Amino acid sequence: MNVRNWARIGALSLGAVGLAWAAKSFLPPTFSLYPPQIVPELLPPAALLPDIEVTFLRCGSVSLSEFLAVRGSSSFAMRQISHSAVLIRHPQATFLYDTGLCGDIPLFLADQSFLFRQTLGRFTFERSLGSHLSAHGLRPNDLSFALLSHLHWDHVSGIPDIPGVPLRVNRVEYDAARLGLLEKDNGLVQRLLGDANPLELFDCVGPTYEGFRSSLDLFGDGSLIAVPLPGHTAGNTGLFINRAHGPRLFLVGDAVWLSDHYQRPSIVHPFFWSRMTSDDATAKQTILSLYHFAHRHPEVPLIAMHDASMQDASMQAERTREGQTAES
Ligand SMILES: [Zn+2]
Repeated sequence: MNVRNWARIGALSLGAVGLAWAAKSFLPPTFSLYPPQIVPELLPPAALLPDIEVTFLRCGSVSLSEFLAVRGSSSFAMRQISHSAVLIRHPQATFLYDTGLCGDIPLFLADQSFLFRQTLGRFTFERSLGSHLSAHGLRPNDLSFALLSHLHWDHVSGIPDIPGVPLRVNRVEYDAARLGLLEKDNGLVQRLLGDANPLELFDCVGPTYEGFRSSLDLFGDGSLIAVPLPGHTAGNTGLFINRAHGPRLFLVGDAVWLSDHYQRPSIVHPFFWSRMTSDDATAKQTILSLYHFAHRHPEVPLIAMHDASMQDASMQAERTREGQTAES
């Protein structure tokens, strides 16, 4: 056999391997689903919990085919990925969980690479955080703080609209971000954090909670419990909302993008997964913990910060509940 034939066989083999790899990337991931032994949390009686109002403030969105958004799906249906903040009104504080997008976000992203702007940085801008807050009759100094689920650019992008508002960040997240994330992409996260907002680091050093390794009770009343959901980033932090009226909610930051990820369980397509996940094994372990929690508590909506349909459903349920309360 001459050199040309060997080259042809080599090219064909490489092509076959490439095709097999590409096909495999669309197959469902493997998870071991053996359930852990969890002692369910005893919630305070509803009468002892405060009323807490929860409002999703959607600032932008992008549509993604389901087979890319959920590994193992063969559907071409479009799924909506949102960029949102959550406005939470507790009797002791009005605050944000994540910050959505500021009005100047196009300026912050202008110097990013073509690949960044066409993939993770591609979205349709809808309404700035500042505009949302004004519509709710709020100025930045009406907010006690903004709790950041993690420090990826798309979760700190509303901060320029809320100068002076203290930023609460899991210490694990901040320490890890200082090792590179803050300076990545031409210092995008550092520029968005700016220097107009005091940083308040917190530690989840309370007891295990609902199968999650530790917790922090924000106001000491059992109503708002932060839990670490690591893997997406080192300190991605979720928030349980236990309240007198309305369903219990669980905000999960970016531990998943869509509810499909903890229901199946699954992940996003490896192209996105590998670019946005700091620790593959830990992130999958967190998804498993969410899977088990969701199956123990089907009555609790687990809402990811990019899951537009879960956020819309939650807002619809809030409006229905408010309507019922007003009628009675
Ligand atoms: Zn995100």
